[in-house]
Amino acid sequence: MGTETYTVTGMTCASCVRHVEKALAATPGVQSASVNLATATATVEGDASFEALAAQVEEAGYGLGRPAPDATVAGVQDDPAPARTRMIVALVLTAPMLLAMVPGLGLHLPGWLQAALSAPVVFGTGWGFFLRAGRQARHGQASMDTLIALGAGVAWLFALVEWWNGVHHLSFETAAALVAFLLTGKYLESRAKSKATDALKELLALAPPTALRLDADGSVAEVPVADLRPGDRVRVLPGHAVPADGRVTVGQAEVDESMLTGEPLPVPKGPGEGLVAGTVVHGSMLEMEIQAVGAQTQLARMAQLVAQAQGSKAPAQDLADRISAVFVPVILGLAILTLAGWWIASGSLASAWRPAVTLLVIACPCALGLATPVAVMVGLGAAARKGVLVRDAAALEALGQATDLAFDKTGTLTEGRPRLRRTLAVADLAEADLLGLAASLERDSEHPIARGLVAAHAGALKPVAAFRAHPGGGVSGEIEGRPWRLGSAAFLDVIFPEVDEDGIAVGLADATGLKGVFVLGDRLRGESAAVAGQLRRQGLRLHLFTGDRAEPAARMAAAVGIESISAGLRPEEKLNRIRDLQAQGAVVGFVGDGVNDAPALAQADCGIAMGSGAGEQGTGAAMAAAPLVLLRPGLEPILAARRLALRTHRVIRQNLGWAFGYNLVLVPLAAFGQLERFGGPMLAGVAMGLSSLTVVLNALRLRR
Ligand code: ADP
Ligand code: MG
Repeated sequence: MGTETYTVTGMTCASCVRHVEKALAATPGVQSASVNLATATATVEGDASFEALAAQVEEAGYGLGRPAPDATVAGVQDDPAPARTRMIVALVLTAPMLLAMVPGLGLHLPGWLQAALSAPVVFGTGWGFFLRAGRQARHGQASMDTLIALGAGVAWLFALVEWWNGVHHLSFETAAALVAFLLTGKYLESRAKSKATDALKELLALAPPTALRLDADGSVAEVPVADLRPGDRVRVLPGHAVPADGRVTVGQAEVDESMLTGEPLPVPKGPGEGLVAGTVVHGSMLEMEIQAVGAQTQLARMAQLVAQAQGSKAPAQDLADRISAVFVPVILGLAILTLAGWWIASGSLASAWRPAVTLLVIACPCALGLATPVAVMVGLGAAARKGVLVRDAAALEALGQATDLAFDKTGTLTEGRPRLRRTLAVADLAEADLLGLAASLERDSEHPIARGLVAAHAGALKPVAAFRAHPGGGVSGEIEGRPWRLGSAAFLDVIFPEVDEDGIAVGLADATGLKGVFVLGDRLRGESAAVAGQLRRQGLRLHLFTGDRAEPAARMAAAVGIESISAGLRPEEKLNRIRDLQAQGAVVGFVGDGVNDAPALAQADCGIAMGSGAGEQGTGAAMAAAPLVLLRPGLEPILAARRLALRTHRVIRQNLGWAFGYNLVLVPLAAFGQLERFGGPMLAGVAMGLSSLTVVLNALRLRR
């Protein structure tokens, strides 16, 4: 079973989203399906074949496209050219009829010319509305297209009847202008929407198109990046971007990773260190060995994650979805009532159709469908640009609404680079031997303590059999046939001798008992206290959840300014603490280092994994564990992420308010004929186009 993202064609409004979702969900093998209007994508979980899905979607009147083969981003390839042509043709043909309405110009177009100009506008450039409405009608469904097709069709037919009856002022221009204005709105909207995916396009454009490959005979060839394979060696000149992920083999240079992590300071890199596609080498030349290419690079995976997240639904959309399910039928009913009411009141069908058509068109649920997803799309793109990787729109919303924020200690509030301060021999082994054993045991552990112990040991490492990591406790393994355990006092079930130093103490024990204790010191991050202070001023309750002992945890919490402390927690106990808070109604964010805090990161309403900078292995684990990943080291990105979460949420609320308010005000006005003196159906066409454009433009403000 897997999750796959497909492109969807032919969707225009919130009702379409529901139709496609229903069609996908009805396909055998599908677990869940979620469709996004702004990105024009469907995310399907399950094991249905593409053919089966496509058949169902076509049956419902829409089209399904295969997912892009590499990391290209769905929805990006939204070609606005045909929409522009349609708009221009419609406007040019409609213009003479509108001019003829200007009093004093004395322009009068004969009826046949009006019919000849308006028919291609309504049924030519506006054909799509009729086509989709017809397809949906065959399946007993109605959408925005139904409303527009009915509105424009009825308007044009009435003009025809007027002409037949010899009426002097014909209303062909109403039908034409309605379609022309709608197409203009659609075009402007699609242009604005294509801006919404800019952040991702920029991200993908960071990797250069070609690379300098060093061939076995020592020659250098410029080859397309697509031709690179893992194991190839390439040269990167100063000022140039790294073509794929890999490792430095020769040279020493400063590497600018700001485009990926937002971290402004370049990072010095030398042999053995990781390089990430899209980052820029400065100062001198580097040679590197390629390890991952194309869709496997961190850059491509990041873009893919963001694209997927942009297609995910924010909970705020639930209401819009529920309303749009009944919206179109309700509007159709209201339009019929309006027609009947005015017909009865005025006694003439000729004056009754206009308010009904105005109502049909003005009520199109297009802005309603776009309000939330377009804000999510722009917000997540802006976050990616700041080095905040968001995998799920719901998590970003939760961060904005969080009441409690819990921090892990090691690697989160501290720098996560514990250095060995002291080794204490408890029994018969020498200090150097103890360290050799500990470093060997820790070789395959990702924990910061492990890295500190390995770094402190100068000699060779011994082979370890039956290695196991015990998250939140320590590690175990056999060296030369002898079983060892290394970790916290609780994990070893011993009591450490009194250590007067402040630091992390871990013990090494064999089957007979404790052999030694290592004391490591880890520095508090410079910004921890300031960031915690700001978050507290924003009204958040802060907590420290740590696996470490109570005394060092309390000292650290006091230094940072956190009052609520829970120490000695195993990873699943951190999860339980989060659950307790949630049971009391709190919306909880948890900040952890992603390596051993996966359960807590997943349980929190918003799990935030600390990145360790581009190219380090920790980032991969963090990306898998949490819905939010900070690519830039340090705690400050939390503040940026929260600001963005709040702004995105505000834009969503404004957009929904606007989309609902617009209908709430204009639909009754239309029904009571109050819009007729402002152009009636024509005004409806303009207003409808403007309302969708407004929500898109409002969302684009998030790019700032
Ligand atoms: P924190 O919550 O402070 O990040 P963890 O949950 O990662 O701490 O771990 C809790 C305790 O378990 C650590 O303080 C340490 O004593 C022990 N521990 C965990 N992993 C290891 C390891 N790989 N090596 C040694 N000790 C470890
Ligand atoms: Mg930790």
